[in-house]
Amino acid sequence: MDKIRMTTPIVEMDGDEMTRILWKMIKDILILPYIDLKTEYYDLGLENRNNTDDQVTIDSANATLKYGVAVKCATITPNQARMSEYNLKQMWKSPNGTIRSILDGTVFRAPILVKGIIPYVNNWTKPITIARHAYGDVYKNVEIKVPGKGSAYLVFEGEDGTSIKEKIHDFDGKGILQGIHNTDKSISSFARACFNYAVDTRQDLWFSSKDTISKKYDHTFKDIFQEIYDTEYKAKFEELGIEYFYTLIDDAVARVIRSEGGFIWACKNYDGDVMSDMVATAYGDLSMMTSVLVSPSGVYEYEAAHGTVQRHYYKHLKGEETSTNSIATIFAWTGALRKRGELDGISELVLFADKLEKACIKTVEDGKMTKSLSLISTCKDPVILNSEDFIKAIGDTFKTL
Ligand code: NAP
Ligand code: MG
Repeated sequence: MDKIRMTTPIVEMDGDEMTRILWKMIKDILILPYIDLKTEYYDLGLENRNNTDDQVTIDSANATLKYGVAVKCATITPNQARMSEYNLKQMWKSPNGTIRSILDGTVFRAPILVKGIIPYVNNWTKPITIARHAYGDVYKNVEIKVPGKGSAYLVFEGEDGTSIKEKIHDFDGKGILQGIHNTDKSISSFARACFNYAVDTRQDLWFSSKDTISKKYDHTFKDIFQEIYDTEYKAKFEELGIEYFYTLIDDAVARVIRSEGGFIWACKNYDGDVMSDMVATAYGDLSMMTSVLVSPSGVYEYEAAHGTVQRHYYKHLKGEETSTNSIATIFAWTGALRKRGELDGISELVLFADKLEKACIKTVEDGKMTKSLSLISTCKDPVILNSEDFIKAIGDTFKTL
């Protein structure tokens, strides 16, 4: 059989620990036998980030802007323990944060559904994709512990001399204060990424905030979304028969629970942080969550939502058997290959991605799975496979499709 040819490279960002081990197996067993794979390779493993003073992360993000599609392995975000473990020159920033800011991107997370793993909310028969605005609000706050009696003000001093001052509160005694901000630019990028992704995946888009209480702050989010929708996306949405829908966050929560899924829920930063954990847990397992970073200009970076699975890696290093689920990482690859196929007009690549995803799902539905999946599956007698045998089993299923 001839291998599928590619015309434009995918930006390949290698990573750390157990997911780095899986990365190579996925390529060797599931991709290289079928595709004449073209990638521009960047090693984002912590050792190489340290050696290059993290320049490799910046280069990989710029390459993504150039080519339009990237696939990323999970990477370590250094903390104090990693400083000594890897003898780091510096506590390098989270690669995801660096890439996100260069791409000005929004992260979309969606669960992979398989029969036998039943969501806690049993009417959720389709995936719910959460889009989290990852800039500002409480994550870039300034706080004060008020020591005693006194008055607090919110003050803006414009470069042109404008001065705006609002009283927050007259304190009788001790208390607390918090200042938060966002920018029209960041909110607009977030909105465009959401509208683009809705068009791309042909799903309805919901956006929620608390504009009835926050009449300027949250209301600005609502207004920017509406204006961009009306002027740039309305016609496209109508043509595709999809809907943009704004509602209050509390109403959204109630509707989401009653829904069957199958839409994108755009959330402000804090709401997205909280709701994505709730949605992921309700669907079953972090190892079955995909994640894609989409820029407002339509650049895509695919990855798994989980981390480097450190605990499994240490077992692997000791020569013990691991049973790590590679499905979300495989879906990162299929997402990137499908997108590349769509952009370059290579239908074989799109079909390959569809078929490999089907093979993953069928393998689990046929009762062959990793340990963590067996714990949440209703399958009577699951066959529990180790990390490599699971990938091989997916490869065997692939050949039968
Ligand atoms: P993690 O790697 O997601 O793993 C947490 C636990 O979840 C694992 O110990 C394992 O549970 C389970 N798990 C996650 N993925 C799994 C899979 N594919 N198959 C089976 N079980 C899976 O999170 P972490 O341990 O908090 O973080 C480890 C490293 O990952 C950190 O250095 C962190 O900075 C990094 N991280 C990177 C990203 C990213 O690059 N996007 C995201 C998050 C974290 P059991 O041990 O109970 O089996
Ligand atoms: Mg969270």
